[in-house]
Amino acid sequence: MHKSMPDNGVKRDEILSQLDSFKEQDPNYKSGKLWSLVYYIDEAHQELLKDAYFKYSSENGLNPTAFKSLKKLENEVISATADILNGTDEVCGVVTSGGTESCLMAVKTYRDMAREKRRVKKPEMIIPETAHVAWYKASEYFNVKIRMVPLKEDLTPDLGKLKKMINRNTVMILGSAPEYPHGTIDPIEAMGEIALQHNIPLHVDACVGGFILPFMEMNGENIPPWDYRVAGVTSISADIHKYGYAAKGASTITYRNLEYLKYQMFVQPNWSGGVFASSALLGTRPGGAYAGAWAALQYFGKEGYKKLADETLQAVNRIKAGIAGIPELEIMGKPQGPLLAYKSIDPEVNIFAVGDQMNAKGWQVNKNQKPNGLHAMVTAQHLAVIDEYLADLKDAVATVKANPELANQGGAATYGMMAHIPLRGMVKKKVLEIYSAMYKAGGGQLDLSAAADVDTDGQGEKPSLVDKIATWYVNRASKKS
Ligand SMILES: *Cc1c(COP(=O)(O)O)cnc(C)c1O
Repeated sequence: MHKSMPDNGVKRDEILSQLDSFKEQDPNYKSGKLWSLVYYIDEAHQELLKDAYFKYSSENGLNPTAFKSLKKLENEVISATADILNGTDEVCGVVTSGGTESCLMAVKTYRDMAREKRRVKKPEMIIPETAHVAWYKASEYFNVKIRMVPLKEDLTPDLGKLKKMINRNTVMILGSAPEYPHGTIDPIEAMGEIALQHNIPLHVDACVGGFILPFMEMNGENIPPWDYRVAGVTSISADIHKYGYAAKGASTITYRNLEYLKYQMFVQPNWSGGVFASSALLGTRPGGAYAGAWAALQYFGKEGYKKLADETLQAVNRIKAGIAGIPELEIMGKPQGPLLAYKSIDPEVNIFAVGDQMNAKGWQVNKNQKPNGLHAMVTAQHLAVIDEYLADLKDAVATVKANPELANQGGAATYGMMAHIPLRGMVKKKVLEIYSAMYKAGGGQLDLSAAADVDTDGQGEKPSLVDKIATWYVNRASKKS
């Protein structure tokens, strides 16, 4: 049976206290123990976002001529973004609901541009293996085939191979600044030259880097060129709800000029509801998110963002130094911004077992795969907990080294097994089954009861989707034999 809404309205205080109570099971991001998902500074900043959001929470940016206030906010956000990305006065763009929407829009734009200008019917895009998963989503949604550039030893894309992938169906090339898994900035200058030579658009995915790399550079850091100063770059996505510290629901997509952006537009002159035009994916567009983004830019200003970037980099550098002091571990690739990942270089130390130990100590670290590693999305907030993190990391490595059997337990066992499941198509099917069950009528929970048999580390870490799939696989394999 469905849980229905109350027959009679509930009192305000009751509603709000219930909302607070629902958070009890959520990750506690205010303590700095979470290394992904949330960009938190402090309560004063949080209050500002709340108030700014609230002032425009009913306003709708669907029609940019209706609420002039929202168009003004959007213009100013895009202008400020173009400025930090070193764009000329021609750089233009749209505020979107998030990085994924910005990435999707770039693919739609370049597909449609190639269709109109070059009659391309079987569009392809060239993306490095480290491209964010949003690009895979865009490929599926918009039917643009992926040509995937393999990585070199240093985890940067192999540009020799990239060049060979270009053909008459190529509608765009993608680079990231930085890529999410290892925090490495792709060689955008060299990619820009290739793009220019072949007259193919180059999008830079700076969703995560767009609001921090420019300020690191202003602080005197040596960051390789990746923005509109690189001639071949035709568009950039940059999220304000990441290192811009805006309320969730705010990103930007900008283009070198309107000639590109116009292919992003949708127009339907024959709709019975009237002539309709839209600049991006959404219909109704949340005014609150624009106001939150605008407010964040005003609140910090360039000096505020420079200070945040500086504190973040201090935290990153201390982690890098700390990891350099743990002989079993090594930083992966060449991270130059706020993200990094590290792996084990000691065959006796399973990196996922180290992750399990860290999680048991109350941290929430994420796993990388292909190659295996642990990930950190560092913010200014983490500066205060770095010593504790590194001490725990050193401990975790020592524990795993002294107890190699930990590699066969908990998350390490299940994640390790995932890599060895040969039938990726079946894994995909199983994930789909489990994931869609969460959305079944009545709102399913992720049912992990079956995973209890593999969660033998007794550390009380909650089993994940990956555990569930590994359990399924083990059960399936044992039935067969
Ligand atoms: C976060 C991210 C995205 C997607 O952004 P969302 O806001 O999560 O939709 C895309 N690309 C990169 C590099 C990212 O880090």
